Amino acid sequence: MTPSTLTQLFADAARQTGMQLSYDHEPTLWLRNEISAIRQAAQGGRVEQCGHLAPGQAAVVALWRPERAWCAWCASALMLTGDADRTCDRCQRVGAPGELIHPCVVDAGAALVLLGLCPGCSRAEVPR
Ligand SMILES: [Zn+2]
Ligand SMILES: [Zn+2]
Repeated sequence: MTPSTLTQLFADAARQTGMQLSYDHEPTLWLRNEISAIRQAAQGGRVEQCGHLAPGQAAVVALWRPERAWCAWCASALMLTGDADRTCDRCQRVGAPGELIHPCVVDAGAALVLLGLCPGCSRAEVPR
């Protein structure tokens, strides 16, 4: 896959999931550990695929459901509601109703990783 189609795929996935795409993100140790755990699970055949993914196609993985990999289209069905939607993937804190979890998309090479962070963790992960 050429870089331009990959970039397009990421942009599409970000748009479909209403997420913010960060190209120059430098993951923290926590996020690098999460991503390498997903990689190891995928290499060990422990990550189920949605069925649309062609070999070599970039997959979308959500930190809150790391046991499955999705195509960009299926990823739009991954959005959560209620308490699960307000749960921070980093500190596992459930935000108060109305409190916004910051959705993020991270380019992890062969996969896009989706995660939701509470305001505190969001500042730690993506300093602005
Ligand atoms: Zn799919
Ligand atoms: Zn948090």
